[in-house]
Amino acid sequence: MDSTSVRGVRIASFLLLVFISAAGTLAASDETAPARDPKQAVDEAYTAKIQKYTTAPYFTSPLVNYLPASKTVPTPETVLGDVAGAPGVLPYAEDVYKYMRLLEKASPRVKVFSIGTTEEGREMIAVAISSPENLKNLEENRARLTKLADPRAIKLDDAEADKLVAQAVPVYYITGTIHSPETGAPTALMELAYRLSVDESPYIREIRDGMITLITPVVEVDGRDRMVDIYKWHLAHPKDFYPPLIYWGKYVAHDNNRDAMGVTLKLTENVLNTYVKWKAQVLHDLHESVPYLYDNTVGDGPYNAWVDPILTDEWQMIGSRNVADMTKFGMPGVFTHGDFDTWSPGYLMFIAAMHNGISRLYETFGNGGADTQERTLDPEEYARTWWRQNPPLPKVLWSQRDNNNYEQTGLLTSLHYFNENKRLFLKNFYLKAKRSVTKPSAEGPAAYVLPADESRPSLQAELLRVLQKQAVEISRAKAGFTVALPVKKEKPKKDGKDKKDTKEAEKDKKPEPTSRDFPAGSYIVRMDQPYARIADALLDHQYWSPDDPQKTPYDDTGWTFGELFGVQVARVTDLKVLDVAMERVMEIHAPGGVKGDGAVFAINNAAEPALATLRYKLKDANVEAAEEPFESGGKKFNRGSFIIRNANRADLDRAAAEVGLQAVAVGAAPSVKTHPIRAARVAFVHTWLSTQTEGWWRLALDDLKIPYDYISTQAIAKIDDLNAKYDVILFPPVGFFSSPTAIINGMPTAWGNPLPWKNTPETPNLAGKNDSTDDMRPGLGWDGFAKLQTFVQKGGVLLTATDTSRFATEIGLVTGVSAQTSERMKIVGSVVGTRLVDGASPIAYGYEEKVPAYCDNGPIFSLSSISGARGRRRLGNESRSRPTGRGTADEPDFTVGRPGVEAPEEPTSETWEAPPVTDEQRRNGFRVIPPADRARVIFRYADQKDLLISGLVAGGNEIAQHPAVVDVPSGKGHVVLFSINPVYRGETRGTYSMVLNTILNFDSLDAGRKLAEK
Ligand SMILES: [Zn+2]
Repeated sequence: MDSTSVRGVRIASFLLLVFISAAGTLAASDETAPARDPKQAVDEAYTAKIQKYTTAPYFTSPLVNYLPASKTVPTPETVLGDVAGAPGVLPYAEDVYKYMRLLEKASPRVKVFSIGTTEEGREMIAVAISSPENLKNLEENRARLTKLADPRAIKLDDAEADKLVAQAVPVYYITGTIHSPETGAPTALMELAYRLSVDESPYIREIRDGMITLITPVVEVDGRDRMVDIYKWHLAHPKDFYPPLIYWGKYVAHDNNRDAMGVTLKLTENVLNTYVKWKAQVLHDLHESVPYLYDNTVGDGPYNAWVDPILTDEWQMIGSRNVADMTKFGMPGVFTHGDFDTWSPGYLMFIAAMHNGISRLYETFGNGGADTQERTLDPEEYARTWWRQNPPLPKVLWSQRDNNNYEQTGLLTSLHYFNENKRLFLKNFYLKAKRSVTKPSAEGPAAYVLPADESRPSLQAELLRVLQKQAVEISRAKAGFTVALPVKKEKPKKDGKDKKDTKEAEKDKKPEPTSRDFPAGSYIVRMDQPYARIADALLDHQYWSPDDPQKTPYDDTGWTFGELFGVQVARVTDLKVLDVAMERVMEIHAPGGVKGDGAVFAINNAAEPALATLRYKLKDANVEAAEEPFESGGKKFNRGSFIIRNANRADLDRAAAEVGLQAVAVGAAPSVKTHPIRAARVAFVHTWLSTQTEGWWRLALDDLKIPYDYISTQAIAKIDDLNAKYDVILFPPVGFFSSPTAIINGMPTAWGNPLPWKNTPETPNLAGKNDSTDDMRPGLGWDGFAKLQTFVQKGGVLLTATDTSRFATEIGLVTGVSAQTSERMKIVGSVVGTRLVDGASPIAYGYEEKVPAYCDNGPIFSLSSISGARGRRRLGNESRSRPTGRGTADEPDFTVGRPGVEAPEEPTSETWEAPPVTDEQRRNGFRVIPPADRARVIFRYADQKDLLISGLVAGGNEIAQHPAVVDVPSGKGHVVLFSINPVYRGETRGTYSMVLNTILNFDSLDAGRKLAEK
């Protein structure tokens, strides 16, 4: 017996004492203490198994260490064949639903609702548990909650609200298993549903009679079924390694809990709709990663700047009480502070935070399956800190039952505390809604306006539809209007110097405009509505101070939707905007179709992704791109605008209307140079290392209806002639485990067993509609690499971003571009400025001078015209200075005893350019890359002072001015490298067209190119 277990035993007996003495003193004088109903029989067999599977006496509580018996209601054992949390038992979603529906059949206290389906067509459910009377009066109660949720209905009358608060039954919504390898919640929630519907102890009866518990036992249903497949495979092959869960849902893995801003996944939409429809007060999301229970909403700063402080107080109240209750039960390792910050509103639970409810999230401890295992913690996990006075133990035997005990105990004490204080929480629910409605005058802004003269109406419509998914009301102005702009205060100069200069400069400055006009038809997002906060949070700018004590932001620090969608959004503080004549808009669609007369049609290119959708819709039409701007019929067209011939007008009208693009019929084609826009054949490459980040790209292409073949790096080597099948190969970011050598080598194959990812009778759900393989381990390999190289040499286009760009530069797919890793730079998921460098490149079609983009410490590209030269990060031209000598700083030095000589002028270049080739380099210059083969910079990062738009940028000088998007010719083809990530979380739709332009102009990427002279 080692020292750890000796200590463990001692702690065990100590805690047991605490546990016995705590039960009686737990509650405040008027609160019901947790205790069994002595008159209700216990299911002895079930209870014995609970005790058997619990690995230590302190890993349970008096709330869950028994199961009440029922003659009519089936226990989870009916479906599971064992108790909840039993080793070796992981139910599919279908089994969980089967049980919930058995409960519904057997008990008038349970109702099951279907809340939608997943991308792969699996059902999602919500289970309501309450007294039969509450369930009978659901609609009446919903009407009350609706008035509290939207206080405009009661004219913000507090007295009326108090009456509703006194009568309403609150709704507490619990969601399980959004993260598929976190496996404990479904069985915990099955048993919780049983307890809530059967247990007659006063403690549970109060919850049942006092509130409605709503449960979605499985959020990521597609991923759950895959995870259960893998676990069953593991049980059948206990000595083998099992495949890691590479796909969770159809598109993304862990990031499914980062979708609550963009609402692009079905699971987010279904939970959001359920939350809003039920007018729930809480959304409590269950996770597993931290020992043993971390109620992480209290977490750490910085808190999201747009949540109501009433909510942050509620976090503290509920979190602290939860820790206290469980600590008194003698359960170790329960805490509520910790390093999770609550800045990003992307988490599923944040649906509640942004809709006037209470967001909560549990991290419990799990083994990623239902095996009972010995687990050893890191020192920082078991360290006692001020916020974790009773930390987890360094080494324990941990079971799925232990997990289920913690989850249920946490939830039951939370439900009971919530019920005890429900009038307070209901009143807060009303107050938060009321404070949203009074936001314009209380704190501002009054509204956001999206002007009618937007140059990208289809993207504007997409942004507004995201807001509508968030239950935000959108209005449209019936007439033009003017608002006053806030007066900008000049910042005083810090050092007090240059006062005179500043004054003079001020005289020359144009006066700032004091008002702004908006045309009729402009969209107005009023802030005097109950769900104003989510609109404000999405449309406003974020600033994360480089000096913030939180040094490791948990997720993205910036997300401003107007910037990332590339559309105009005006933050208006002038209250008069609310008096503008306007109407609610229920359906938002950008106007589109064909206007004018003529057989040739022109569509302006404003970098709207819908253009690509249209090209693929009109498969057989003759579409060309104008290489220069032109005017026709009094309308201006940008470079890259479509010119369409031989199209059926009715077909074009229908297709353009569907995607929200305006085609203009013109008498004759404009006399500008054009090139064909073909529907490229696209291959989309993924690794077997991680599919998380590329999933967002698939989702975007599927939404836009751009067809592609989805192939793995393993498949590349097996395709004889890539050029015969494809014009463009997209290799989107890999995400985790993405070093260049890992992309080539894959996972280790020198030991272990094959890791199959395919549908078999043992694993019927694994591949779904995604890819499959007999062995996930091999990577691209050198054969695959050679195939990629040949593809580009023969004229193909390869597009890479972030880590795959690093792969392309480091492994030698391009020459003349290197990618450095930053030293001190910290750009943590931020919106940054980029600048157009080469507007004649088809990749830039439709873009203006300044383009906001998403960057997460992207690779720092440097260019060189010398093959094999290791490009260095460059700091511009100011670094050169003259040596010590005669004269002034600007004058030449001199040498005694000989006439002065004029030095040749030093060649200069910008940071994003390759330094000019020198005469010395040209001597026997076999390394000098010929001008036509040199990299072409399309976009660069903005200057340091303009880099930050939203989020955190520290040490930005490392990447400022460096290339952001580069087109590198290689043989007859091209490799297009992105340092930014142009396609991400459904949030970056303004930069999608950089990728789509590359696809559509794949065989004309050199259009408009100006070559260096030598
Ligand atoms: Zn999780």
